[in-house]
Amino acid sequence: MRILLSESQLQTGIQSMAADLRRDYQKRPLTIIAIMTGSLVLLADLIRLLDMPVRISLIQASSYRGGTHSGELHISQAMMLDIEGRDCILLDDIFDTGKTLVEVTACLERLRPASIKSAVLLRKEGQSRVDVEPDYVAFSIPNEFVVGYGLDYQDHYRNLPYVAVMEDSDLEESES
Ligand code: 5GP
Ligand code: MG
Repeated sequence: MRILLSESQLQTGIQSMAADLRRDYQKRPLTIIAIMTGSLVLLADLIRLLDMPVRISLIQASSYRGGTHSGELHISQAMMLDIEGRDCILLDDIFDTGKTLVEVTACLERLRPASIKSAVLLRKEGQSRVDVEPDYVAFSIPNEFVVGYGLDYQDHYRNLPYVAVMEDSDLEESES
């Protein structure tokens, strides 16, 4: 694996994202809706840099790829708070095609929040299939498969403190 973003680079990017949120929301209360499980580590680091009142709500989005459910997103709201009339930030690990963010946002809009913006750790360059952009992006990265700092490969590597590129040889090793 090749390290793409070191621990200190990640902290610098997250500090800058937190500074942007503090500037834009001042002391207004925020509800952060984190898409599990990939945004778990980002969530923990980001909220400790915020100084407005913060509520945390979790949502799970899993896509069934292949078969009859190709590309269909299943959204589980078991740990959602009431967001009616609240300023919300939807937090995800990575914006790739953008479909997850668009579909989850549409689903949350039905709950009538006062506002909803999106924040992601990573944005893959040139991959977007939607006409919206995430509002807050810590890092833009090339189109490679990455793991660590919350991101997984077959449920592993989320605990790496850095973000690394999985190369073809790494994928072969994990399979053997
Ligand atoms: P999108 O709907 O924007 O295409 O995809 C977003 C989701 O795909 C992310 O929440 C993440 O779960 C997954 N994903 C996309 N690219 C990567 C990647 O490079 N590494 C990992 N681990 N997951 C990715
Ligand atoms: Mg995800």
